[in-house]
Amino acid sequence: MIKVNDNFCKLPAGYLFSEVARRIDAYRKSHPEAEIIRMGIGDVTCPICQAAVDAMHRAADDQLSVFTFHGYGPEQGYSFLREKIAEYDYKRRGISIGIDEIFISDGAKSDTGNIGDILSSDCKVAVTDPVYPVYVDTNVMSGRGGELIDDRWSRIEYLPCTAENDFIPALPVGNPDIIYLCYPNNPTGTTLTRDQLSEWVEYAIAHKALIMFDSAYEAYITSPDVPHSIYEIPGAEKVAIEFRSYSKTAGFTGLRCGYTVVPKALKGYDSTGAEVSLNALWNRRQCTKFNGASYIVQRAAEALYTPKGMKQVRETIDYYMRNAKVLREGLAEAGLQVFGGIDAPYIWIKTPGGMSSWDFFDLLLSKCNVAGTPGSGFGPSGEGYFRLTAFGRYENTVEAVERLKKLEF
Ligand code: PLP
Repeated sequence: MIKVNDNFCKLPAGYLFSEVARRIDAYRKSHPEAEIIRMGIGDVTCPICQAAVDAMHRAADDQLSVFTFHGYGPEQGYSFLREKIAEYDYKRRGISIGIDEIFISDGAKSDTGNIGDILSSDCKVAVTDPVYPVYVDTNVMSGRGGELIDDRWSRIEYLPCTAENDFIPALPVGNPDIIYLCYPNNPTGTTLTRDQLSEWVEYAIAHKALIMFDSAYEAYITSPDVPHSIYEIPGAEKVAIEFRSYSKTAGFTGLRCGYTVVPKALKGYDSTGAEVSLNALWNRRQCTKFNGASYIVQRAAEALYTPKGMKQVRETIDYYMRNAKVLREGLAEAGLQVFGGIDAPYIWIKTPGGMSSWDFFDLLLSKCNVAGTPGSGFGPSGEGYFRLTAFGRYENTVEAVERLKKLEF
């Protein structure tokens, strides 16, 4: 008999984006003339920069010659890229990270999803709410979810982030072993300051908890008091794993490349209470289950750290952040309460008049032909909110705002 992992069967069907697509399709069929502006799904629209594309051309040519051909690479990633990360993303910010603490991957979704492999299924998990759904679903798959009751998993602690608490989660009360923090945040577009993040590091040290720090949107930070890495906080190397991605930084959503930092100072405990290095466990996991990101892609990522690459990446981020400003200011003018969009490419809107997230979705689709993402899809505290992204084309973003302004909120 083929017995399956029951935990997978507990997960509700992938509802959010398929339901968004279904409603857009239905609207399109009944209104074929409508020019719908899609500002929902978080993919980027700008092409990959010239420096990275040139590097890929060169790397492709390397594969033509017996002298420069690359087959299997190191599971942890090539040192040419890990050295650049250690230097540019950490050392230049005053943080010391060794290259053997950096693991290159095919992106942050895989790593944030797979990291649970090295942790006990008994661990208790806390997530901020609303949340990037991968953290919750992968913990459910590993047996850490419990039962789904009223949109909440019984063994997961939800830390509400709403306008009432300025999107600053309160420290957990249920003594979680693993805490997921994502800053700048998807979906709310909000951040934690250095002082606020320090409280979490202190909490994790005091309670022997592990922080999974997802900084996929680090490149969008503009405020000086917002940390670029959790390792800016003293002691974080003993309690935190950090995830980064080139997807939103450099348009690598299709190319696929990211990395995870697992400091050597980070320790877990086995069932006998003996100390275990999480770095060693993650290395073992990667060597067994992963054969490395492709050589060509890692050369492209390396090129992002050249002066040309950095300048070109900056231009693209500025393009999206101009969209974010247009959205933030335009929607506020339209009478909406908006959050985020200063240090992140996401705009989080409070639905007017207590409207539900899905009702607001239907309203914008039918009255403005603008599609976004209902906040309730990101967790119970997302109800009553709505997400728009700044990843669209500038002209479409301006047009979407003009259409929204015509509605009276
Ligand atoms: N983490 C967060 C918070 C995200 O929003 C996303 C993508 O939307 C990812 C991780 C996944 O990034 P990647 O493309 O590197 O898998």
